[in-house]
Amino acid sequence: MARPEKLLRILETIDGRGYGAYRDIAGRFDFGEFILFIDHVQADPFAAPSRVRVNLPAGIAALPPELYADAAGRVAVADFLARRAAEALHRHGRGIRGSGSSGLIRIDGPGQEILEHTAVTLRPGGIVDARFFVGLPAKNRRVLARVCRSMIESELVAVLEEALLYRNLDADALAAHVAAYRTQEALRARLPAHGLVAFVGDGARLPRRSGVDDRPLEDDRVVPFRAPPEHRVVLTLDDGRRFAGMGIPAGITLIVGGGFHGKSTLLRAIERGIYNHVPGDGRELVVTDPTAVRVRAEDGRSVAEVDISAFIRNLPCGHDTTAFSTELASGSTSQAAGLLEALAAGARVLVLDEDTSATNFLIRDHRMQRVVPAACEPITPLLDRARELHGRLGVSILLVLGGSGDYFDVADTVIHMNTFRPEDATARAREAAAALPTGRTSEAPPLGADLFPPRRLLPATFADPSALRGEARLKARGTRTILLGKHALDLSALEPLVHPAQVTALAEGLRLARDHFADGHRTVEEVVALVMQRLDEEGLDALTRRPSGGLARFRGLELAAAINRLRSLRIAR
Ligand code: ADP
Ligand code: MG
Repeated sequence: MARPEKLLRILETIDGRGYGAYRDIAGRFDFGEFILFIDHVQADPFAAPSRVRVNLPAGIAALPPELYADAAGRVAVADFLARRAAEALHRHGRGIRGSGSSGLIRIDGPGQEILEHTAVTLRPGGIVDARFFVGLPAKNRRVLARVCRSMIESELVAVLEEALLYRNLDADALAAHVAAYRTQEALRARLPAHGLVAFVGDGARLPRRSGVDDRPLEDDRVVPFRAPPEHRVVLTLDDGRRFAGMGIPAGITLIVGGGFHGKSTLLRAIERGIYNHVPGDGRELVVTDPTAVRVRAEDGRSVAEVDISAFIRNLPCGHDTTAFSTELASGSTSQAAGLLEALAAGARVLVLDEDTSATNFLIRDHRMQRVVPAACEPITPLLDRARELHGRLGVSILLVLGGSGDYFDVADTVIHMNTFRPEDATARAREAAAALPTGRTSEAPPLGADLFPPRRLLPATFADPSALRGEARLKARGTRTILLGKHALDLSALEPLVHPAQVTALAEGLRLARDHFADGHRTVEEVVALVMQRLDEEGLDALTRRPSGGLARFRGLELAAAINRLRSLRIAR
């Protein structure tokens, strides 16, 4: 085993030499209190930073075992440590010194959600594994050994001490973090017993700072959430704690209300309720069925061999919609395809917002039915399928719709957002529906027996040999991109991707699918299930050959969505 003196000696010998000499420091070095792994050495100061990992023995980190006895506790503790490490790096990191990334030490710090992440992981026995991106320092491509030594001995060590040793942590904050995570898991697990698909706790603060800043809006004018009496439920956890809030029942739920009254904000919070949020986020008591998926219009996306005939038939060009393929989907065809792909992948709650939907996919009113006869309209709007989807597949639909009351005929629940306050409007909506019949006729032809004919994922999908790469800047819209050879895979429509590390992990998930599971016989869903099973068994490290600190957990639903959006996707039926 290499002792740290060995690392220091190597550093001395390579000082001032060409950058390639850094290769000599790859390896494992025992510092006594921790083990340093230099897993990957960058080839050049301008290349992606080197990967450095630190393992702290359980006895040194000294975290209380009751906090990490189970997988949920380990995820929450590791997330807390990653946050403290990112903060400590802010204090102790001295930033770029020299060319390229020289002098940089970075950890992939989490955002508002507590995700399973590889920045810091906690092993069942209490070993802490923390992963850093390090720019090995150089000047004019020459090794700066002394700077490197101080980066390890002072900056990195200070971060380990402050952020990863229990005695230096705020124990109450750590306990609260873990408790918040566990509470959200427990609340989510209570939903089915109450017939709910989502729960928004009283006191929740839903609005965000901006469209590119997911932190809570801090403003006196924020209206805390308060359940309307008709939808007030109390969830009781095993430990006796009781949480009051609004339950969204299974079925078809409309969120209506005037413009700028908080409809989309509520919907977005519910959509994000698949994740657990950090204390102070404002959405700690918003939990949603873990299979909820936003379905939106994505005109321009490609579609491969999806049976969209439930919604679309008789396209003008004689396109077969039972095995629909296009390089350039319209708003409605893209939304129909996205919805059916999501259901095939296991979504049981569909979330739609009129802001991001194709109008003709949602509605077709009486007057339009008269002017454009059914024979000339390929689209069966969701309005005419919603009840069937619920009845036959048990799918719940949550829809924000301020612009049309036609859905009052099919909704189970109507919530009116009035100046950010939810009111029940189900009875009023029923009255309005009875008093003002829409006059429209349902145009839905009978649904086929098999809505999801098997789609086999062909290896030709991955014929382009160039590497899969994740380009995961999430801040600005439209930069959730994975590069697959010459194709860019645009994931901007996948709202549940909240962290760049998820996009990177998805790119690796595609690679795993390609290398191990897409044999030409398995369906898209089977391939996804095998990738997810591998992740469950081996953790996120199953995704990469070398340990990486930049991966976070994604759902099988997102992996299926990514595959379905590949422009190179080849499917056999
Ligand atoms: P809608 O979808 O009904 O048009 P939005 O949800 O987009 O409305 O909200 C409009 C604005 O109000 C947004 O800027 C949002 O951040 C803000 N907002 C939403 N909910 C609240 C709230 N509870 N308190 C204060 N401001 C809010
Ligand atoms: Mg809106």
